[in-house]
Amino acid sequence: MHCLDCRTAGTNSPTVGVCQGCGAGVCATHARIAPRSVRRDSLIGIPGEAEARTVLCPVCAAAEAPAAAVLAP
Ligand SMILES: [Zn+2]
Ligand SMILES: [Zn+2]
Repeated sequence: MHCLDCRTAGTNSPTVGVCQGCGAGVCATHARIAPRSVRRDSLIGIPGEAEARTVLCPVCAAAEAPAAAVLAP
């Protein structure tokens, strides 16, 4: 699979992930990593939250998570 944003720009880059907003493939340059907390409920234990992550494309990141980090080169 190739990065949608790179393909639109006329280049082909392999993807490193898939946008959770629109489903587009994103390359290392276009991937945005947004933190996401997951609630873990337990009947016998203490409920807690774990830090997970969401992969987004630049378009969805701008709309949903402006603070999403750019993947380190
Ligand atoms: Zn790209
Ligand atoms: Zn997207």
